[in-house]
Amino acid sequence: RKMSSSLFEHPEKTSYINGAWVPASSGKLFECLNPANGNPIGSVPDMDSKDTEVALAAAAEAFKTWQKTTAKERGVILRKWYDILEQKKDTLAKIITLESGKPIAESLGEVAYGNAFVDWFSEESRRINGEIIQSPIKEKQMLFVKQPIGVVSLITPWNFPYAMITRKAGAALAAGCTCVIKPAEDTPITALALAYYAHQAGIPKGVLNVVTCDRSNAPQIGKTLSTSPIVAGLSFTGSTEVGKLLYQQCSTGVKRIGLELGGNAPFIVFENADLNMATDGAIALKFRNCGQVSRILADAKEKGAKIVCGGKPASHLGELFFEPTLITGITPGMACYSEEIFGPLAICIPFKTEDEAVTIANSTRRGLAGYFYTSDISQAWRVARDLEVGMVGINESLITSAEAAFGGIKESGLGREGSSHGIEEYVYIKYLCFGNL
Ligand code: ADP
Repeated sequence: RKMSSSLFEHPEKTSYINGAWVPASSGKLFECLNPANGNPIGSVPDMDSKDTEVALAAAAEAFKTWQKTTAKERGVILRKWYDILEQKKDTLAKIITLESGKPIAESLGEVAYGNAFVDWFSEESRRINGEIIQSPIKEKQMLFVKQPIGVVSLITPWNFPYAMITRKAGAALAAGCTCVIKPAEDTPITALALAYYAHQAGIPKGVLNVVTCDRSNAPQIGKTLSTSPIVAGLSFTGSTEVGKLLYQQCSTGVKRIGLELGGNAPFIVFENADLNMATDGAIALKFRNCGQVSRILADAKEKGAKIVCGGKPASHLGELFFEPTLITGITPGMACYSEEIFGPLAICIPFKTEDEAVTIANSTRRGLAGYFYTSDISQAWRVARDLEVGMVGINESLITSAEAAFGGIKESGLGREGSSHGIEEYVYIKYLCFGNL
């Protein structure tokens, strides 16, 4: 029951606002459950829009000084945070597994992936350079400088509860922004652990704040985080449905927005592909993050799809587990044809020509990532060019890293995270014109 406090020593039943551990103003709590067995892990504050206003005010106050720190100073603090997170990686992985249900090896992988963003952005802060422009007029000199946009709201999902925070907060803090994080209701302790170590690393009070809440308060907090005049921008990873709502809400104040929404990645194997390589890639891609099965499968079965293997709960592991499943006979009317699949489910669709494969892959409103296997270099270029996605894996299924520009097109999102482009989401260009020289 006291798991959260025995894993790291923050005061129980509190969240992190303005450098302090505080309860919800309403005094309410909600319980986090281990999804593998339903056991309680710990209680966290069930905050509301009032608490969110307090966190935003703290972030606004902190922005006054944080934005004036040098890039190098911010880099040094981020580096310290990274060093601590590396030291604590086993603890952090345990928390992720307890809250999200993923296997410990995957949680360790997520910590490594998540920490890589802190490492990367600790260095990138020093490369936020401006431009000096060749002026068309002798008496004028033109410059572009990049400045942090201000206080940003970060809303993250449960499936990568750790790395989605570091990917956003790392970039935001490196740019000189301050932030209020609203983690998913299933995985708030992971976010609190990150805040705990951020505090230890010397990230000043108010620069990074965490507002925890249960699902029922998410809409009101989301509204405050997207409409408050304090907020300069919002970055969200999660469902397309919530992403669209936040996009709408952000439009009222013309806020910056970054969205990483659902995908439904095609995985194409051409006849000249190395089949062993493709099989390994497919298993790594489609069955990662183990098992959250959905109604999707039932819909496909009803409409005539065939289950090749799996297809039922893996009851020997516990009530909430599902077997890795492969199905064929998929037709466009089925939900799994075009919707994001959150489960250990792979669907197979045969094709005859390259054009047909690309057409099927593009016949969705999603456009996050696409993968294909081929040994034909011309085909590799053509298909990479023609897939309507933001990221392409060519003879490779594991393509993410801090150095990569992560993001989608179509309804999969806006903006890029990671890479040097990740910082751009958190800065604006200010044009300076020196006249009468
Ligand atoms: P998932 O299907 O992965 O749960 P969601 O989009 O529902 O994806 O959740 C992602 C994040 O969005 C979570 O932190 C959740 O609490 C939050 N969220 C859910 N509804 C809203 C909302 N109306 N406004 C803001 N955030 C929300």
